[in-house]
Amino acid sequence: MTRFSRWALACVVVAAAVLAALGWISLRQWERSAEVVVREQARDMAAMAAEKIEMLLRGAPEDAVARLRAAAGEAGPAALEAAIAARPIREVLEKTLGGLEAPTIAALLDPQNRTVYAREPLGEAQRLASARLREGLPGWQVALYQPPGFSPHQTVRRQVMLFTFALGVLLVVILAGSVTTYRLMRRESEVARLKADFVANVSHDLKTPLSVIRMFGETLEMGRVTDQATRDEYYRIITRESERLSRLIDNVLDFSRIEGGRRTYERARAPVEPLVRESLEPFAYPLAQGGFKVEADIAADLPDVMMDTAAVGQALSNLIDNAIKYSGARKAVRVSASMVGGELALAVADEGIGIPPAEHARIFEKFYRVGRSDTQGRRGSGVGLALVRHVAEAHGGRVTVESRPGEGSRFTIFLPVR
Ligand code: ADP
Repeated sequence: MTRFSRWALACVVVAAAVLAALGWISLRQWERSAEVVVREQARDMAAMAAEKIEMLLRGAPEDAVARLRAAAGEAGPAALEAAIAARPIREVLEKTLGGLEAPTIAALLDPQNRTVYAREPLGEAQRLASARLREGLPGWQVALYQPPGFSPHQTVRRQVMLFTFALGVLLVVILAGSVTTYRLMRRESEVARLKADFVANVSHDLKTPLSVIRMFGETLEMGRVTDQATRDEYYRIITRESERLSRLIDNVLDFSRIEGGRRTYERARAPVEPLVRESLEPFAYPLAQGGFKVEADIAADLPDVMMDTAAVGQALSNLIDNAIKYSGARKAVRVSASMVGGELALAVADEGIGIPPAEHARIFEKFYRVGRSDTQGRRGSGVGLALVRHVAEAHGGRVTVESRPGEGSRFTIFLPVR
């Protein structure tokens, strides 16, 4: 993780925090001022409605207006109702008070504060503002009401909640984005580190067999080794080390082909037994040398399998190589081939150092090596298992691992028999 990316991340987090704080403060202020604004608006609206009524009444027949005025003076609600229901008056009120924006309810009050007209029943509605009429109906008022649940306070509350929610969603998105970016960056920098290790490991792996070959080659060349048995031993060492070199180079080349998307497999129907035996053969000497107990358990009558024998052989070799490399005090390698649930199962088991369960998924990643002192002491490039997995999956199969630290590991390649 570079200093720069840490800074960038810190900036995003600080910006999000500032945004959240500012958003919250302005919401609180808005909540406080909004109620005042709503009331002011209602007052203006009532005044406008009052003016409009006055204006329209001027154009209405004088006797209808006079009847209405008179009805308010009398106590009888029936007379009042009749006066309101008169067509010109009704039209004026519907035009002015009926069209106001919901949920506000506009009403006309007579001088005794009785509601003589309302667009809809007032019920529990709360009065917001009122304006007096001067001409035409002096002493009368236009009043604006809010039904319950729509008081300015509640309306503002609802909006504040909506904004708070939106702000919350925004913050969550920003945070999720930052976390994802952070993880991506961390991964990237880890891959970069693993790549650097890979180069160092491969170079080291190439150098060691080369210097062994050179040393034994030079010794033989000098003709100082007189007895045949020792000479044979030296030849075997040279062969074994060259095989090891070839394997390593094959791995690296194949790995780069896979990375470049250029790895192809040529599959043909082939028998399993020779494949397993040939894969084990190059290890016969190191296995014997290391005092390994070796077992090859190949089921009889295995069907021929559609596969790229070279690739599957290479995968098996990688597993056997690991079984030897990561062995502990107990030295045993068991290779088996059998049919399991209609699939060919090629398994390589050891009684070596094992792998902690938390690492089981990661060991198949490219460049990944279990970071323990006992693993780090062993040579390796970290691409062996990545190749094994690629080969298995390219054949429509998979690879599994069962392992316990200190007890050993078993890797199994499952291949469909088609
Ligand atoms: P390497 O070149 O490091 O062996 P691999 O991809 O073959 O790379 O293996 C990845 C890691 O998995 C190894 O570094 C090792 O930690 C672990 N591992 C693989 N095989 C075994 C095994 N048989 N026993 C214990 N650990 C293993």
